[in-house]
Amino acid sequence: MSTKDYLENDYYQVLGVSKTATQDEIKQAYRKLARKYHPDANKGDDTAEEKFKQISEAYNVLSDEQKRKEYDEARSLFGGSYRPGGSTGAGGFDLGDLFGQGTGTGSPHGGERLSDIFGGLFGGRGRTGTTQARRGADVETEAKLSFEEAVRGVTRSFRLTADAACSACRGSGAKTGTTPRVCPSCEGTGHKSRNLGGFSMSEPCPQCRGRGLVVDDPCPVCNGSGRGQSTRTVQARIPAGVHDGQRIRIKGKGAPGERGGPAGDLYVVVHVQPHQVFGRSGDNLTITVPVTFPEATLGSEIRVPTLDGFPVTVKIPPGTPNGRTLRVRGKGAQRRDGTTGDLLVTVEVAVPQNLNSAAREALEAYRSATSDQNPRADLEARAKGA
Ligand SMILES: [Zn+2]
Ligand SMILES: [Zn+2]
Repeated sequence: MSTKDYLENDYYQVLGVSKTATQDEIKQAYRKLARKYHPDANKGDDTAEEKFKQISEAYNVLSDEQKRKEYDEARSLFGGSYRPGGSTGAGGFDLGDLFGQGTGTGSPHGGERLSDIFGGLFGGRGRTGTTQARRGADVETEAKLSFEEAVRGVTRSFRLTADAACSACRGSGAKTGTTPRVCPSCEGTGHKSRNLGGFSMSEPCPQCRGRGLVVDDPCPVCNGSGRGQSTRTVQARIPAGVHDGQRIRIKGKGAPGERGGPAGDLYVVVHVQPHQVFGRSGDNLTITVPVTFPEATLGSEIRVPTLDGFPVTVKIPPGTPNGRTLRVRGKGAQRRDGTTGDLLVTVEVAVPQNLNSAAREALEAYRSATSDQNPRADLEARAKGA
């Protein structure tokens, strides 16, 4: 229980009794409500369990004359109409004013400030975690993509496992056929009160560790923890142009939010398989194309395959050296903005392993005709020099 809960909750309203109710009336109201919302009668119903805890909490305070007096005093001090919004209404006032922080303009976090201030003092668990909308967790997974899928994008389904209530005991932690019982130590409130200088302090109950319930016969599936795993399948689009090892974020495909909160994000680490022919260089595709010596020397037009299956004709200029890269615009990978990278064609002069006699004669004639050419003419001089 946090200060905020303590002040925010109208325990009289929780039990449905008047502010001047006698102890008998309080006890009667408590018993009636406790029977109705008891976890034994509402198996697996979280709302009932939460309601039961509220009732127990209210009874815990109002059934003790000393605690009731402190509660009444605290609430009258804070106007008895504390609202988490922190805005100043007719009957209430901004709690920020009290601590010299508020301006009375209705700071949306006025309520948080109070819990900050009292946070350490009251400790324990607030109920905020179970009543406020909460964003779902981010989830990370991996995907193996073919080269083409990485270039073009692909829709994949992912099986995601997440922590969830144990399906055997529906999260109660109790063996099937049994139910957890209200913790005798804290009467189901989950916290133990201590008096400290006028304030009623509270800390998590050690017997039930704040849960308010104890399990005698633990569920064998989850060993009494009540925790299990759930599996769900989501469809997600991997955008075009992803790289090997890239971690991509797919918004809203993570764990679902709680109580109307937004879903978390899905992160996918992609592993891209290499292609037999094509490579990637950023948004460009690469390919190495063998050409013959005459094609490189005399110039030619060659057919080059592309990833989309339609070959393009590439002009090899006369005198193209081995290793030169030629650019074919627009035949690369798609970019985020919808434009496309280029295909980079690297020329590799192929050296024939076998020659027929006519080719050999022609090549020997070529050697004689070019005997005055020595491509290594100044190599040794350069090796010795600088
Ligand atoms: Zn279980
Ligand atoms: Zn307890």
